Amino acid sequence: MSTYLIKDAKVLGGDASDVLIRDGVIAEIGTGLTADGATVIEAAGQILLPGLVDLHTHLREPGREDAETVATGANAAALGGFTAVHAMANTDPVADTAGTVEQVWRLGQETGRCDVHPVGAVTVGLEGKRLAELGAMADSAARVRVFSDDGKCVDDAVIMRRALEYVKAFDGVVAQHAQEPRLTEGAQMNEGTVSGELGLRGWPAVAEESIIARDVLLTAHVGSRLHVCHVSTAGSVEILRWAKSKGWNVTAEVTPHHLLLTDELVRSYDPVYKVNPPLRTAADVTALREALADGTIDAVATDHAPHPSEDKDCEWAVAAMGMLGLETALSIVQETMVDTGLLDWAGVADRMSVRPAAIGRLDGHGRPVRVGEPANLVLVDPTPRRTVEPSELASRSRNTPYAGLELPGKVVATFLRGVPTVIDGKLA
Ligand SMILES: [Zn+2]
Repeated sequence: MSTYLIKDAKVLGGDASDVLIRDGVIAEIGTGLTADGATVIEAAGQILLPGLVDLHTHLREPGREDAETVATGANAAALGGFTAVHAMANTDPVADTAGTVEQVWRLGQETGRCDVHPVGAVTVGLEGKRLAELGAMADSAARVRVFSDDGKCVDDAVIMRRALEYVKAFDGVVAQHAQEPRLTEGAQMNEGTVSGELGLRGWPAVAEESIIARDVLLTAHVGSRLHVCHVSTAGSVEILRWAKSKGWNVTAEVTPHHLLLTDELVRSYDPVYKVNPPLRTAADVTALREALADGTIDAVATDHAPHPSEDKDCEWAVAAMGMLGLETALSIVQETMVDTGLLDWAGVADRMSVRPAAIGRLDGHGRPVRVGEPANLVLVDPTPRRTVEPSELASRSRNTPYAGLELPGKVVATFLRGVPTVIDGKLA
């Protein structure tokens, strides 16, 4: 295994240090370090963070390999600075058995680019009727700890209660896609001024907030652990703040796109902006940024949702929901949180690595940058700006909402247990 010496990097944005990576771990940190035979990486002005961890990625394999595979998704993840991602269960077949989650886990291991941790479905076939084999998935080689019917809401309160009770046995967490189904039938975008003007069926904030309110109460009642996926409204933030003030075991994530984009973009009728939950208002964006800054929202999660062009380059009403996220997430967080002064780089490490790793119960990720720790690291240059060019993305799909947008920051290198997956901004 090769040895790498990173020179003059700002560890978590702090003082410049040299970091020696040897045998998969951080072997030495200091100034003026030398090491025989080491590959030297000059990193003056660059930021060294723990490898990013995504709680919410759609890798589409098995079943929709035309949109993404575990391998192409892992490449995109590595280029985005991620060393671990959670692969959502809404594949075909659904990841609701030990066999399917083990298949996804093994495909991830084979890539060598990024650890892929399968999320298990809460209910059989995501149908919301019967609990899936949660215990078997937890005991499998994939060691599943996060369970979600994402894409669909576990709307039946009794099923949700049983799931929350069940996961306690193995310290799991239920990650809820909070969407009251009756309130969102046929919904096309955020319900508000813009939906009224465009005449598109609205997706009201209360459809998200009512489920979150119910679920934090259920979680408290059974003493379990709840994670709320892709929080998108100011009202949801208020409920989470209240639940956390009670000391309940509730965590939440926000996507990069909900930190930057608003429903005004839907006026273009470009389906690249069609996503679930929908883009909300500027006031919601402000509330989400503040909640991520103060820790009410624990983590940034991409909700990377690749779709082939035939599912996106069509009329708004029939277009698939979702957008790419892995390769642009860190730049969006820099733009919306760091360059605005809301979060420093240590805060970025916390929200994009430490806390998501803790929520997913991942050993070896989200660790301090310290001697003896596994060398899961990302080196970021915050200075350059780049224009997003969809054809240059490693994802198999092209549905990025940031095409043509100039964004700050560049992932220079990513290390997975001491092995570079990305070097000089390219796949190693
Ligand atoms: Zn979702």
